[in-house]
Amino acid sequence: MTNISCIFCSIIAHNLPARFAGENEECVAIWDLNPQAPIHILVIPKEHIRSLHEVESSHAGLLQSLISLIQKLATEHHLDGDGYRIVSNIGKHGGQTVDHLHIHLLGGRQLNWPPG
Ligand code: 5GP
Ligand code: ZN
Repeated sequence: MTNISCIFCSIIAHNLPARFAGENEECVAIWDLNPQAPIHILVIPKEHIRSLHEVESSHAGLLQSLISLIQKLATEHHLDGDGYRIVSNIGKHGGQTVDHLHIHLLGGRQLNWPPG
């Protein structure tokens, strides 16, 4: 389940430092090291799953936990009024740099569209 060469698995195991933003049974949230918005949190399942592309029907509960942690954090950080964005990059063309599924939660400023 844990991948010893994975940065996020190491953070989840508390073997690498990170600023935690929240947690529930199946997911953790950490502040992004290189924030792209005033609020930039990564919501990460504790299970090592490569990306959203590898998610299966057995992960239904985990996806529910992921979404509910996102909603809780967005509310806690007062993003629910003006809105926010969630992004999950997949693979090389998607711009994924850490191969452990994570959802970027971005907010606190007007975000542009389309992305680069
Ligand atoms: P990706 O490029 O895979 O969509 O997103 C990876 C994100 O993880 C990037 O936004 C990057 O800044 C962040 N990141 C990479 N390494 C670390 C780390 O060690 N700690 C934290 N908190 N964020 C990281
Ligand atoms: Zn991992």
